Amino acid sequence: MADGQPTDLGKGSAAAVVTVIGGGLAGCEAAAMAATVAAKAPAEGGLAVRLFEMKPECFSPAHTSPHLAELVCSNSFRSDDPDSAVGLLKAEMKLLGSLTMAAADSCRVPAGGALAVDRERFGETVDRLIAENPRIELIRAKAERPFDPALAKDGPVVVATGPLAGPETTGPLAELAGGGNLHFYDALAPIVTRDSLDPDKFFAADRYAQGPGSYLNCPLSQDEFEAFLAALLAADRVRARPFEEERYFEGCLPIEVMAARGPRTLTFGPMKPVGLVDPRTGQRPAAVVQLRPENLAGTHYNLVGFQTRMTVGAQEEVFRLIPALKKAKFARHGAIHRNTYVDAPRFLDPFQGIPALPGFFLAGQITGVEGYVESAAQGLWVGLNAARTALGRRPVLPPRVSALGSLLARLGPNDGQKPFCPSNVNFGLFPPPSPNLPKRQWSLERLERARSCWEPFLKEIDHAPAPRP
Ligand SMILES: Cc1cc2nc3c(=O)[nH]c(=O)nc-3n(C[C@H](O)[C@H](O)[C@H](O)COP(=O)(O)OP(=O)(O)OC[C@H]3O[C@@H](n4cnc5c(N)ncnc54)[C@H](O)[C@@H]3O)c2cc1C
Repeated sequence: MADGQPTDLGKGSAAAVVTVIGGGLAGCEAAAMAATVAAKAPAEGGLAVRLFEMKPECFSPAHTSPHLAELVCSNSFRSDDPDSAVGLLKAEMKLLGSLTMAAADSCRVPAGGALAVDRERFGETVDRLIAENPRIELIRAKAERPFDPALAKDGPVVVATGPLAGPETTGPLAELAGGGNLHFYDALAPIVTRDSLDPDKFFAADRYAQGPGSYLNCPLSQDEFEAFLAALLAADRVRARPFEEERYFEGCLPIEVMAARGPRTLTFGPMKPVGLVDPRTGQRPAAVVQLRPENLAGTHYNLVGFQTRMTVGAQEEVFRLIPALKKAKFARHGAIHRNTYVDAPRFLDPFQGIPALPGFFLAGQITGVEGYVESAAQGLWVGLNAARTALGRRPVLPPRVSALGSLLARLGPNDGQKPFCPSNVNFGLFPPPSPNLPKRQWSLERLERARSCWEPFLKEIDHAPAPRP
């Protein structure tokens, strides 16, 4: 590598190379999908994939593991219900041959109706799937100039450096975007050790008894809830730095910001007791904190929905007011972080290419999708198009009626309406139902349209998912 930049790495005898920068969820998916397309196209001169990952040489403020596709906070890929928007998106990813979904399925931990994984095994599995792929060369080094046009001389470049990307990404991006590079905040939930919980003060159950009882539920009486709420509202918080503006993603608000909106915000939100009955009293508690297992061994648990920007001392004081957590040991405290994303509808083309920098694509959370699943799904599609472009084929959009098509459509041109802000996948992004269809049939129509669109589309673009071990 000369001057921190790659030279002919990863090309070998291939006519073209897809370069992916950042081995996170989006980057690994992009690399794996580009390799899948490459595997079907040897007659076109061959296509190689090179993937840069800066860990373990450098870590962002939130990354700590040397593995690829690190899950920086929760270990959950959310609902597995195929009738939910995120469940549908995951089903589509599986159909397309997603590396993330294959890895996640192989190291699930019990989590009721959610797909949650053993974090360590998930990372190891992604490492292995990338290492075993003969078309991908993994380069453990930081790309010092991710937008250097020289990188694109052998083929398309996918920049997937994530929401915590360093100045080597954000500086040029801000310049390219004419200062329109945005940021907002997100927050991490704490993790506690199971052996530090009071076994007489929690019960194992899934909401509405839908599952084997994967969550540990920590009940609070009305008095305990009120004391907790008062302490939460009075607690010290980490202040934003002068150059940082306090803006949060509505789907991931810090617990204290939710509490400040009114006492019922918590009992209708992360502390909601509905569907849970304490077997010791036979009653529904006034409020409940749910703990989800972090690993298969069940030694560590995540406080579900308890992202926070309280100071470390305040977190210990306030969370120990939850009776089951009176002596809790914190394996990780909550934290706040910056989350960088671009104004995709104005800055990117419909395929998430950068018109101002031909040959470059953006992938992952930095494009304004929000969440592990969404970042991986968007990365998968960018990988497909980067490989198609390298092979001289036209880039394609997924069917608009699908979950993936709906997610990506949100990043496309939007007639300049409203300020762009990141979004999870949700049914509000899907095309409207047929006119005059009774409301109760909307969701059925949406699901049917999304499920039936893929087979003809995949035939049309001649895509077959890679077999996964
Ligand atoms: C602190 C935090 C907590 C989050 N919690 C959740 C959550 O609980 N659930 C959820 O669904 N979503 C969460 N998100 C949102 C989002 O889903 C994740 O950030 C997701 O990991 C984004 O995937 P990505 O591939 O875009 O970026 P990342 O997964 O961050 O991957 C980027 C990769 O690029 C590498 N890299 C960066 N710069 C370079 C460079 N110059 N050269 C080489 N490599 C480089 C990094 O080391 C990293 O491995 C969280 C985000 C943050 C920041």
